[in-house]
Amino acid sequence: VSSGTRLVADAVLPCDGSGAVHRPGAVDIGPDGRIVNVGPVATAAESVVDGGEWTVRWVGGLLMPGLVNAHCHSPMTLLRGQGEGLPLDRWLREVIWPREARIGAEDVFWGMSLAAAELLRFGVTTTVEMYFHDDLLAQAVDAAGSRCIVTPGVVVAPGWERFGTWPERIEWITGLREQYAEHPRIEVGFGPHSAYALPDEAIAAVGDAARATGAPVHVHVAETEHEGDEVSARHGGATVPQVLSELGLFDVDRVLAAHAVWLTEKDVDLLASSGVAVAHCPGSNAKLASGTAGVTALRRAGVPVALGTDGPASNNDLDLWEEMRLAALLARQREGDPTVLPAAEVLHLATAGGAAALGRPDLGALAPGRWADVIRLDLDDPGFVPVLDDGDLAAHAVWSASRSAIRDVWVGGRQVVRDGECLTVDVTEAGRRVRAAAARLAAG
Ligand SMILES: [Zn+2]
Repeated sequence: VSSGTRLVADAVLPCDGSGAVHRPGAVDIGPDGRIVNVGPVATAAESVVDGGEWTVRWVGGLLMPGLVNAHCHSPMTLLRGQGEGLPLDRWLREVIWPREARIGAEDVFWGMSLAAAELLRFGVTTTVEMYFHDDLLAQAVDAAGSRCIVTPGVVVAPGWERFGTWPERIEWITGLREQYAEHPRIEVGFGPHSAYALPDEAIAAVGDAARATGAPVHVHVAETEHEGDEVSARHGGATVPQVLSELGLFDVDRVLAAHAVWLTEKDVDLLASSGVAVAHCPGSNAKLASGTAGVTALRRAGVPVALGTDGPASNNDLDLWEEMRLAALLARQREGDPTVLPAAEVLHLATAGGAAALGRPDLGALAPGRWADVIRLDLDDPGFVPVLDDGDLAAHAVWSASRSAIRDVWVGGRQVVRDGECLTVDVTEAGRRVRAAAARLAAG
């Protein structure tokens, strides 16, 4: 590669599974937005040879991969904090669904735009989204310069008639996937909401469509204790994962199960043997008192685990750093063991491990060939003082500095946040639009 940009920093944490830390280090980014080389400055210098046109930028601080938020309904910024304190069923029926029935395509664009600015400023470069008016959601992601796996929801519920019958919806999603087939930052998959929100034939049909197109599937599984009771009763007492498996959904290559709180041991084995990944959402689950997923048992069984914030209507922000801390805190409480999920491992869930759970080995680490989704943290932030050895970097990033230390963000080599400001979204305008829409939606 004869041209590109070299970012030189005080420290580089590649999160590539090697445990390496380069102090100082460099990340070389090619003109196609992919990483060419990463390493200590002296080693990385070898890629800047043969008189090529490389721009060298001393950026300082700590460079890490952008974070992966594996379960999101980001346009719910439109409904942030609405119906606080209600139990899940009343919250959905009385507050969320009536408002969502009034949400228009333009609202989704602005809700997603505002969310993208928030995500990027928190260092989250990739999200997995499940919502509706997904063509506008994808347009907002495109404009914001962020990265997204868009999995349009497939739901049979009041208000969803406006998106057609479920077969029409599956066909529409297939078309949207084709439309974005060549997009470098947007991939379209399927979001069958859950076993309880869809007839069996719809779940089987989504599986067929995903297999035919190679698309990923993103589905809510076992979030609350009794959500699957009716489904189990219809299937002779089978658990929801067993039902989804019998319907062929787990025969899809890339399946991401959100929440996975209420699983039996057999369910965990089934996910592992089917290659189904889990998006662990500790903050959302705790806030709604849904329970705590057995993240240690899942990982021990070999289930790939990623982290998710869930939607900002309920959680209520898109801060994946908080999910890292909660994942570790709750797992340690549950196991009675302070050695569970050390900082480097919890960081892995939010980076390369999360990307692996999405079946996206091109994301989540600073390594040659992967997309240059890079975040820069300020090592002068009080949360990073003191750094006495290499291990302190991951520990401070997770436990004390986190989102407040983020200064710069690049996605595919393009800078989208500079000195804490999002360069790609007009945050003032997006805020104005979302405020107006939220007032209109609440008024009915
Ligand atoms: Zn969800």
